[in-house]
Amino acid sequence: MSEMRYEAPKTLEAAVALLAGANGRAKVLAGGTDLLIQMRSGRMEPALLVDIKGIPEMMSIVAENGGYRFGAAVSSMDLIEHKEFAKAWPGVVDGIKYIGSLQVKARASVGGNLCNASPAADSVPALIAAGAVANIVGPKGRREVPVEQIPAGPGKTSLAPGEIVASLRLPRRPAHSGDAYLRFTPRTEMDIAVVGAGVNLTLDDKGICKQARVCLGAVADRAVLVPEAAAALVGTRVDDAALKRLSAAASAACRPIDDKRGTKEYRIKVAGVMARRAAEKALERARNN
Ligand SMILES: Cc1cc2nc3c(=O)[nH]c(=O)nc-3n(C[C@H](O)[C@H](O)[C@H](O)COP(=O)(O)OP(=O)(O)OC[C@H]3O[C@@H](n4cnc5c(N)ncnc54)[C@H](O)[C@@H]3O)c2cc1C
Repeated sequence: MSEMRYEAPKTLEAAVALLAGANGRAKVLAGGTDLLIQMRSGRMEPALLVDIKGIPEMMSIVAENGGYRFGAAVSSMDLIEHKEFAKAWPGVVDGIKYIGSLQVKARASVGGNLCNASPAADSVPALIAAGAVANIVGPKGRREVPVEQIPAGPGKTSLAPGEIVASLRLPRRPAHSGDAYLRFTPRTEMDIAVVGAGVNLTLDDKGICKQARVCLGAVADRAVLVPEAAAALVGTRVDDAALKRLSAAASAACRPIDDKRGTKEYRIKVAGVMARRAAEKALERARNN
Protein backbone atom coordinates (compact mmCIF):
# COMPACT_ATOMS: atom_id res chain seq x y z
CA MET A 1 0.00 0.00 0.00
CA SER A 2 1.31 3.48 -0.87
CA GLU A 3 1.36 6.37 1.62
CA MET A 4 -2.04 7.60 2.78
CA ARG A 5 -3.06 10.85 4.51
CA TYR A 6 -5.73 10.98 7.23
CA GLU A 7 -7.68 14.17 8.02
CA ALA A 8 -10.45 14.76 10.56
CA PRO A 9 -12.03 18.14 9.68
CA LYS A 10 -14.39 19.84 12.12
CA THR A 11 -16.68 21.42 9.53
CA LEU A 12 -18.46 20.22 6.41
CA GLU A 13 -16.89 23.06 4.41
CA ALA A 14 -13.40 21.87 5.40
CA ALA A 15 -14.32 18.27 4.50
CA VAL A 16 -15.60 19.34 1.08
CA ALA A 17 -12.44 21.42 0.47
CA LEU A 18 -10.25 18.41 1.34
CA LEU A 19 -12.20 16.15 -1.04
CA ALA A 20 -12.12 18.77 -3.80
CA GLY A 21 -8.34 19.09 -3.51
CA ALA A 22 -7.63 15.37 -3.81
CA ASN A 23 -8.29 14.81 -7.54
CA GLY A 24 -10.74 12.01 -6.89
CA ARG A 25 -8.25 10.03 -4.76
CA ALA A 26 -9.96 10.75 -1.43
CA LYS A 27 -12.60 8.71 0.38
CA VAL A 28 -15.03 9.78 3.06
CA LEU A 29 -14.57 7.69 6.22
CA ALA A 30 -17.59 7.26 8.52
CA GLY A 31 -17.70 4.05 10.60
CA GLY A 32 -15.27 2.31 8.24
CA THR A 33 -17.12 -1.03 8.43
CA ASP A 34 -17.28 -1.25 4.63
CA LEU A 35 -14.39 1.01 3.65
CA LEU A 36 -11.66 -0.55 5.79
CA ILE A 37 -12.55 -4.02 4.53
CA GLN A 38 -12.38 -2.79 0.94
CA MET A 39 -8.99 -1.17 1.63
CA ARG A 40 -7.59 -4.28 3.30
CA SER A 41 -8.67 -6.43 0.37
CA GLY A 42 -6.95 -4.03 -2.05
CA ARG A 43 -10.20 -3.04 -3.79
CA MET A 44 -9.70 0.55 -2.67
CA GLU A 45 -6.47 2.52 -2.22
CA PRO A 46 -7.33 6.14 -1.37
CA ALA A 47 -4.56 8.74 -1.06
CA LEU A 48 -6.61 10.63 1.53
CA LEU A 49 -9.17 9.55 4.12
CA VAL A 50 -11.54 12.30 5.28
CA ASP A 51 -12.99 11.24 8.64
CA ILE A 52 -16.38 12.94 9.04
CA LYS A 53 -17.19 11.84 12.59
CA GLY A 54 -15.78 15.03 14.15
CA ILE A 55 -18.31 17.23 12.31
CA PRO A 56 -21.14 18.09 14.74
CA GLU A 57 -23.85 18.38 12.03
CA MET A 58 -23.04 14.85 10.89
CA MET A 59 -23.29 13.35 14.38
CA SER A 60 -26.59 14.75 15.68
CA ILE A 61 -30.21 13.56 15.73
CA VAL A 62 -32.69 16.46 15.87
CA ALA A 63 -36.48 16.83 15.74
CA GLU A 64 -37.32 19.17 12.86
CA ASN A 65 -40.74 20.40 11.61
CA GLY A 66 -42.49 17.48 13.29
CA GLY A 67 -40.06 15.00 11.66
CA TYR A 68 -36.40 14.14 12.21
CA ARG A 69 -33.03 14.99 10.75
CA PHE A 70 -30.01 12.88 11.58
CA GLY A 71 -26.39 13.29 10.58
CA ALA A 72 -25.15 10.82 7.97
CA ALA A 73 -22.33 9.67 10.28
CA VAL A 74 -24.53 8.95 13.35
CA SER A 75 -23.95 5.33 14.38
CA SER A 76 -26.69 2.77 13.84
CA MET A 77 -26.74 2.09 17.58
CA ASP A 78 -27.36 5.76 18.42
CA LEU A 79 -30.41 5.74 16.15
CA ILE A 80 -31.71 2.43 17.52
CA GLU A 81 -31.36 3.73 21.08
CA HIS A 82 -33.04 7.09 20.36
CA LYS A 83 -36.46 6.34 21.90
CA GLU A 84 -38.51 9.07 20.15
CA PHE A 85 -36.93 8.38 16.77
CA ALA A 86 -37.50 4.63 17.12
CA LYS A 87 -41.13 5.23 18.10
CA ALA A 88 -41.74 7.54 15.13
CA TRP A 89 -40.00 5.36 12.53
CA PRO A 90 -39.97 1.72 13.72
CA GLY A 91 -39.62 0.39 10.17
CA VAL A 92 -36.51 2.49 9.52
CA VAL A 93 -35.11 1.17 12.80
CA ASP A 94 -36.03 -2.41 11.72
CA GLY A 95 -33.70 -1.89 8.74
CA ILE A 96 -30.90 -0.34 10.79
CA LYS A 97 -31.06 -3.18 13.34
CA TYR A 98 -30.15 -5.69 10.62
CA ILE A 99 -26.78 -4.02 9.96
CA GLY A 100 -24.20 -6.51 11.27
CA SER A 101 -23.46 -7.35 14.89
CA LEU A 102 -23.62 -5.10 17.94
CA GLN A 103 -19.97 -4.19 17.39
CA VAL A 104 -20.61 -3.31 13.74
CA LYS A 105 -23.70 -1.24 14.66
CA ALA A 106 -21.66 0.75 17.19
CA ARG A 107 -19.59 2.07 14.24
CA ALA A 108 -21.70 1.69 11.10
CA SER A 109 -23.60 4.75 9.92
CA VAL A 110 -26.74 4.95 7.80
CA GLY A 111 -24.95 7.43 5.51
CA GLY A 112 -22.25 4.79 4.96
CA ASN A 113 -24.85 2.08 4.34
CA LEU A 114 -26.41 4.31 1.67
CA CYS A 115 -23.17 5.56 0.07
CA ASN A 116 -21.52 2.13 -0.03
CA ALA A 117 -24.33 1.43 -2.53
CA SER A 118 -24.74 -2.29 -1.94
CA PRO A 119 -28.03 -3.41 -3.54
CA ALA A 120 -28.58 -5.45 -0.35
CA ALA A 121 -28.03 -2.56 2.12
CA ASP A 122 -30.64 -3.04 4.84
CA SER A 123 -31.42 0.54 5.87
CA VAL A 124 -31.96 1.78 2.32
CA PRO A 125 -35.34 0.21 1.33
CA ALA A 126 -36.75 1.25 4.71
CA LEU A 127 -35.51 4.84 4.23
CA ILE A 128 -36.92 5.00 0.71
CA ALA A 129 -40.28 3.62 1.84
CA ALA A 130 -40.25 6.29 4.56
CA GLY A 131 -39.75 9.06 1.99
CA ALA A 132 -36.37 10.07 3.41
CA VAL A 133 -34.52 12.97 1.79
CA ALA A 134 -30.73 13.32 1.74
CA ASN A 135 -29.07 16.67 2.30
CA ILE A 136 -25.91 16.77 0.19
CA VAL A 137 -23.02 19.22 0.49
CA GLY A 138 -20.41 19.66 -2.21
CA PRO A 139 -18.20 22.15 -4.05
CA LYS A 140 -21.32 23.73 -5.61
CA GLY A 141 -23.20 24.12 -2.31
CA ARG A 142 -26.12 22.22 -0.79
CA ARG A 143 -28.91 20.26 -2.45
CA GLU A 144 -31.62 17.87 -1.31
CA VAL A 145 -32.57 14.67 -3.13
CA PRO A 146 -34.89 11.77 -2.31
CA VAL A 147 -32.83 8.84 -1.04
CA GLU A 148 -33.93 6.62 -3.97
CA GLN A 149 -31.92 8.85 -6.32
CA ILE A 150 -28.59 8.17 -4.59
CA PRO A 151 -27.76 4.50 -5.31
CA ALA A 152 -26.75 4.13 -8.98
CA GLY A 153 -25.73 0.46 -9.16
CA PRO A 154 -23.51 -1.84 -7.12
CA GLY A 155 -20.84 0.33 -5.44
CA LYS A 156 -21.95 3.45 -7.38
CA THR A 157 -23.84 6.55 -6.29
CA SER A 158 -25.19 9.61 -8.08
CA LEU A 159 -23.03 11.88 -5.85
CA ALA A 160 -20.82 14.25 -7.85
CA PRO A 161 -17.06 14.28 -7.09
CA GLY A 162 -16.41 15.94 -3.74
CA GLU A 163 -20.03 15.63 -2.53
CA ILE A 164 -20.91 14.32 0.94
CA VAL A 165 -24.28 13.22 2.28
CA ALA A 166 -24.51 15.51 5.32
CA SER A 167 -27.81 14.37 6.82
CA LEU A 168 -31.02 12.48 6.22
CA ARG A 169 -34.43 13.98 6.81
CA LEU A 170 -37.60 12.06 7.62
CA PRO A 171 -40.92 13.91 7.26
CA ARG A 172 -43.57 14.46 9.91
CA ARG A 173 -45.84 11.43 10.22
CA PRO A 174 -49.60 11.81 9.86
CA ALA A 175 -51.79 9.98 12.42
CA HIS A 176 -52.44 6.27 11.76
CA SER A 177 -49.12 5.72 9.99
CA GLY A 178 -46.91 2.65 10.26
CA ASP A 179 -43.79 1.35 8.57
CA ALA A 180 -41.90 -1.94 8.61
CA TYR A 181 -38.83 -3.55 7.03
CA LEU A 182 -38.24 -7.27 6.80
CA ARG A 183 -35.43 -9.20 5.20
CA PHE A 184 -34.91 -12.80 4.26
CA THR A 185 -31.51 -14.48 4.71
CA PRO A 186 -30.48 -18.16 4.68
CA ARG A 187 -28.88 -17.67 8.13
CA THR A 188 -30.50 -15.87 11.05
CA GLU A 189 -27.45 -13.72 11.95
CA MET A 190 -24.83 -11.69 10.10
CA ASP A 191 -25.83 -12.42 6.55
CA ILE A 192 -26.67 -10.33 3.52
CA ALA A 193 -30.29 -9.97 2.40
CA VAL A 194 -31.59 -12.34 -0.27
CA VAL A 195 -34.56 -10.00 -0.33
CA GLY A 196 -35.45 -6.96 1.79
CA ALA A 197 -38.86 -5.26 1.80
CA GLY A 198 -39.83 -1.90 3.29
CA VAL A 199 -43.44 -0.67 3.49
CA ASN A 200 -44.75 2.63 4.85
CA LEU A 201 -48.47 3.40 4.90
CA THR A 202 -51.05 5.80 6.33
CA LEU A 203 -54.70 5.01 7.07
CA ASP A 204 -57.59 7.47 7.25
CA ASP A 205 -59.98 7.62 10.22
CA LYS A 206 -62.06 4.79 8.71
CA GLY A 207 -59.07 2.46 8.28
CA ILE A 208 -58.71 2.97 4.52
CA CYS A 209 -55.14 3.23 3.24
CA LYS A 210 -54.63 6.76 1.89
CA GLN A 211 -50.89 6.70 1.20
CA ALA A 212 -48.26 3.98 0.77
CA ARG A 213 -44.69 3.45 -0.37
CA VAL A 214 -43.10 0.06 -1.01
CA CYS A 215 -39.40 -0.51 -1.65
CA LEU A 216 -37.45 -3.74 -2.24
CA GLY A 217 -33.76 -4.48 -1.65
CA ALA A 218 -31.40 -7.13 -3.10
CA VAL A 219 -33.61 -7.84 -6.12
CA ALA A 220 -31.99 -5.47 -8.64
CA ASP A 221 -28.77 -3.45 -9.02
CA ARG A 222 -30.15 -0.94 -6.49
CA ALA A 223 -33.14 -0.61 -4.13
CA VAL A 224 -36.38 -0.52 -6.15
CA LEU A 225 -39.33 1.72 -5.30
CA VAL A 226 -42.48 -0.11 -6.49
CA PRO A 227 -45.35 2.37 -7.06
CA GLU A 228 -47.57 -0.44 -8.45
CA ALA A 229 -47.30 -2.30 -5.13
CA ALA A 230 -48.18 0.88 -3.21
CA ALA A 231 -51.13 1.54 -5.55
CA ALA A 232 -52.48 -1.94 -4.73
CA LEU A 233 -52.97 -0.77 -1.12
CA VAL A 234 -54.26 2.78 -1.56
CA GLY A 235 -58.06 3.02 -1.30
CA THR A 236 -58.36 -0.40 0.38
CA ARG A 237 -58.52 -1.71 3.94
CA VAL A 238 -55.28 -3.56 3.15
CA ASP A 239 -57.34 -6.73 2.93
CA ASP A 240 -56.33 -10.06 1.47
CA ALA A 241 -57.17 -9.06 -2.12
CA ALA A 242 -55.07 -5.87 -1.84
CA LEU A 243 -52.18 -7.78 -0.29
CA LYS A 244 -52.28 -10.35 -3.11
CA ARG A 245 -52.06 -7.53 -5.67
CA LEU A 246 -49.19 -5.93 -3.72
CA SER A 247 -47.39 -9.26 -3.63
CA ALA A 248 -47.76 -9.78 -7.39
CA ALA A 249 -46.59 -6.21 -8.13
CA ALA A 250 -43.54 -6.66 -5.88
CA SER A 251 -42.53 -9.89 -7.62
CA ALA A 252 -43.06 -8.29 -11.04
CA ALA A 253 -40.70 -5.39 -10.17
CA CYS A 254 -37.72 -7.66 -9.38
CA ARG A 255 -34.69 -7.80 -11.68
CA PRO A 256 -32.47 -10.04 -9.54
CA ILE A 257 -29.26 -11.97 -10.15
CA ASP A 258 -28.54 -15.64 -9.46
CA ASP A 259 -25.97 -16.12 -6.72
CA LYS A 260 -25.07 -18.53 -3.93
CA ARG A 261 -27.87 -17.10 -1.77
CA GLY A 262 -30.64 -17.78 -4.26
CA THR A 263 -31.74 -18.03 -7.88
CA LYS A 264 -33.62 -15.31 -9.73
CA GLU A 265 -36.86 -17.31 -9.56
CA TYR A 266 -36.46 -17.81 -5.81
CA ARG A 267 -35.82 -14.11 -5.16
CA ILE A 268 -38.82 -13.08 -7.26
CA LYS A 269 -41.08 -15.41 -5.28
CA VAL A 270 -39.65 -14.43 -1.88
CA ALA A 271 -39.96 -10.71 -2.72
CA GLY A 272 -43.74 -11.07 -3.03
CA VAL A 273 -43.93 -12.90 0.29
CA MET A 274 -41.70 -10.43 2.15
CA ALA A 275 -43.51 -7.38 0.75
CA ARG A 276 -46.83 -8.82 1.95
CA ARG A 277 -45.48 -9.58 5.43
CA ALA A 278 -43.91 -6.11 5.72
CA ALA A 279 -47.24 -4.54 4.68
CA GLU A 280 -49.07 -6.58 7.34
CA LYS A 281 -46.60 -5.42 9.99
CA ALA A 282 -46.83 -1.77 8.84
CA LEU A 283 -50.65 -2.06 8.93
CA GLU A 284 -50.61 -3.35 12.50
CA ARG A 285 -48.38 -0.45 13.54
CA ALA A 286 -50.59 2.08 11.72
CA ARG A 287 -53.71 0.76 13.47
CA ASN A 288 -52.00 1.22 16.84
CA ASN A 289 -50.93 4.78 16.11
C1 LIG B 1 -19.45 -8.16 9.85
C2 LIG B 1 -20.26 -7.21 9.04
C3 LIG B 1 -21.62 -7.44 8.88
C4 LIG B 1 -22.39 -6.56 8.12
N1 LIG B 1 -23.74 -6.82 7.99
C5 LIG B 1 -24.51 -5.97 7.27
C6 LIG B 1 -25.91 -6.23 7.12
O1 LIG B 1 -26.43 -7.22 7.61
N2 LIG B 1 -26.65 -5.34 6.40
C7 LIG B 1 -26.09 -4.24 5.83
O2 LIG B 1 -26.81 -3.46 5.21
N3 LIG B 1 -24.76 -3.98 5.94
C8 LIG B 1 -23.97 -4.81 6.64
N4 LIG B 1 -22.62 -4.56 6.75
C9 LIG B 1 -22.02 -3.46 6.00
C10 LIG B 1 -21.74 -2.16 6.76
O3 LIG B 1 -21.63 -2.33 8.13
C11 LIG B 1 -22.82 -1.10 6.45
O4 LIG B 1 -22.92 -0.87 5.07
C12 LIG B 1 -22.53 0.23 7.19
O5 LIG B 1 -23.76 0.89 7.39
C13 LIG B 1 -21.53 1.14 6.51
O6 LIG B 1 -21.41 2.34 7.28
P1 LIG B 1 -20.00 2.93 7.71
O7 LIG B 1 -20.30 4.15 8.50
O8 LIG B 1 -19.15 1.90 8.36
O9 LIG B 1 -19.43 3.31 6.27
P2 LIG B 1 -17.92 3.42 5.76
O10 LIG B 1 -17.32 2.07 5.68
O11 LIG B 1 -17.17 4.47 6.52
O12 LIG B 1 -18.20 3.99 4.29
C14 LIG B 1 -18.84 3.21 3.30
C15 LIG B 1 -18.76 3.94 1.95
O13 LIG B 1 -19.59 5.09 1.95
C16 LIG B 1 -18.82 6.29 1.77
N5 LIG B 1 -19.41 7.24 2.70
C17 LIG B 1 -19.63 7.04 4.03
N6 LIG B 1 -20.32 8.07 4.54
C18 LIG B 1 -20.52 8.95 3.54
C19 LIG B 1 -21.17 10.21 3.46
N7 LIG B 1 -21.79 10.76 4.51
N8 LIG B 1 -21.19 10.85 2.26
C20 LIG B 1 -20.59 10.30 1.17
N9 LIG B 1 -19.96 9.11 1.19
C21 LIG B 1 -19.93 8.43 2.36
C22 LIG B 1 -17.38 5.91 2.08
O14 LIG B 1 -16.45 6.70 1.38
C23 LIG B 1 -17.36 4.46 1.61
O15 LIG B 1 -17.22 4.40 0.21
C24 LIG B 1 -21.80 -5.42 7.52
C25 LIG B 1 -20.43 -5.17 7.71
C26 LIG B 1 -19.68 -6.04 8.45
C27 LIG B 1 -18.22 -5.76 8.64
